[in-house]
Amino acid sequence: MKDIATPSRTKDILSRHGFSFKKSLGQNFLIDPNILHRITETAELTKETGVIEIGPGIGALTEHLARTAGKVVAFEIDQRLLPILEETMEPYDNVKVINEDILKADVKTVVEQEFAEFDRLMVVANLPYYVTTPIIMKLLEDKIPVNGFVVMLQKEVGDRISAKPASKEYGSLSIAVQYYTKAEIAFIVPKTVFMPAPNVDSAIIKLQVREKPAVSVENEAFFFTVTRTSFAQRRKTILNNLVNGLPGGKEKKEQITAALEKAGIDPARRGETLSLNEFAVLSEALLKEGIQS
Ligand code: SAM
Repeated sequence: MKDIATPSRTKDILSRHGFSFKKSLGQNFLIDPNILHRITETAELTKETGVIEIGPGIGALTEHLARTAGKVVAFEIDQRLLPILEETMEPYDNVKVINEDILKADVKTVVEQEFAEFDRLMVVANLPYYVTTPIIMKLLEDKIPVNGFVVMLQKEVGDRISAKPASKEYGSLSIAVQYYTKAEIAFIVPKTVFMPAPNVDSAIIKLQVREKPAVSVENEAFFFTVTRTSFAQRRKTILNNLVNGLPGGKEKKEQITAALEKAGIDPARRGETLSLNEFAVLSEALLKEGIQS
């Protein structure tokens, strides 16, 4: 059978089912099998790997996952796609579709129930762009036991996720994702491989989940508060951002200055110049000065 991801087969499936794209659900379907090969290769799938897919659409990526991985569980929010997936996934007995919003789903329980016999688990998806960051952050913060992610997203978000300190893309999202994973852009994807073509450039990002976070902090939530606060106004110094943004910061300017100095960080620096490790040392120093979120 011809791949789903060709313009002619995709058009045929959509027209037979009378399906119209919903822009609000980020529906841009892949129509190029070469990109799908590159995605499954990047994810290093084998029959011993389980895969969680988010947003199977009409199954373009799902069938490549089904061919190369041991089992695929795909979360799809749009009920209209269920009868289509039933038809397109008919040749594959290792695919399960769950009609749920990934942001509301109990993914941990699904993993326990569906992937007990798999030692390796990957998230592989062409993500709906309106919720890329919430999806990645939910799966990381909920500590879903996956080895990694290979996902399509807006290139601009991929640049921010994988950014290094002192670059203009580096910010609290880079820190949040790099705290849990080693992040790299695997390759850039042209707009022409989608139907309809999205307005923005796309990239495949690879996230390798770390065995333990990149830095060790006493209070994870406070560490993330400190990083977010430090980037609140990028042109301001880290001292100003912390004083203005931390609860009670204005009354505690002296303690914040002391914490910065004890952490070896010049209060005149900008947040974007601090490494993950410096943020960790800083958040511990702020806690020692009695500053809490
Ligand atoms: N995987 C298909 C492909 O590559 O051709 C479709 C990818 S399309 C970019 C995104 C898919 O995610 C759509 O099928 C859309 O309905 C689905 N989707 C959007 N929001 C979702 C959510 N919150 N939870 C689960 N699926 C969602």
